[in-house]
Amino acid sequence: MDQEIKDKYIRAGKIAGEVRDYAKKITKPGKKILDIAEAVEALIKAKGAEIAFPINISINDIAAHDTADRDDERIISENDVVKLDVGTHIDGYIGDTACTVAWLPEHQELIKATERALEEAIKLCTPGTNLGDISAIIEKTITDLGFKPIANLTGHGLGKYNLHAEPTIPNVGFKTSYTLQEEQPIAIEPFATIKDGAGLIKESTEKKIFMLINPKPVRNQNARQIIKIAEKRNGLPFPLRWVPASGVGLRIGLKELMDKNILYDYPVLKEVNTTPIAQSEQTIIVGEKPMVTTKTDNF
Ligand code: MN
Ligand code: MN
Repeated sequence: MDQEIKDKYIRAGKIAGEVRDYAKKITKPGKKILDIAEAVEALIKAKGAEIAFPINISINDIAAHDTADRDDERIISENDVVKLDVGTHIDGYIGDTACTVAWLPEHQELIKATERALEEAIKLCTPGTNLGDISAIIEKTITDLGFKPIANLTGHGLGKYNLHAEPTIPNVGFKTSYTLQEEQPIAIEPFATIKDGAGLIKESTEKKIFMLINPKPVRNQNARQIIKIAEKRNGLPFPLRWVPASGVGLRIGLKELMDKNILYDYPVLKEVNTTPIAQSEQTIIVGEKPMVTTKTDNF
């Protein structure tokens, strides 16, 4: 990888890690998720990076793709298991990292299981490692600790303005001939739930995050407002929260864009058995000594 590009991955990763730690610090029972989202996204910009995706604040059985709406009144409760997934970029080169925070003692081991699985997987992020070995160690670590990995959520490669480049990195063992390459940027993200869980997520009908896939002219004023935000994203996702419209008008605009296949929507993902899910994620540049770009002293 070109040194200039590598430096951008490193800068984006450093900021993503710092912002993730900040998100964790301010996420407390009684706090509005809208306030967390706004503070976190402002900090990414203040630190000199861009937002790769709206912060995902996914609570309890919600695994991913939830975030605050403009008028979101949801408040964190001390019973919650809160996943905070932060993405930054510098000129399209991404840092992607997530942690989970909870306050009840019964949730701490679940969180630790995903952290431990991530640590074990990172040790294998060396050139020539078969991808199946990474998936297998994630599954084994989580299972040995008495929990269940989420089988249909995966880590992934990263590319310029591409959040989900090849390869896909499953959280359960699988057979492949794919091996990691020197300096390849990847994100590893074990998700786990408790034994009563299905170990699977399903798509819900709720959608908070969208992405422009197929730009076309539209007439509807609300649809145009949404496209205006979408076009500034270079193909990266954005939340409805950023669109200065609301209510019926927003819904009509959105429907037109979905009907015309202009936008892609990310459904909110939920555990099939509604059990709580934890997630831990870091961005890594593969090497003899793997470089965790999103690492801080805290995580
Ligand atoms: Mn992520
Ligand atoms: Mn990711």
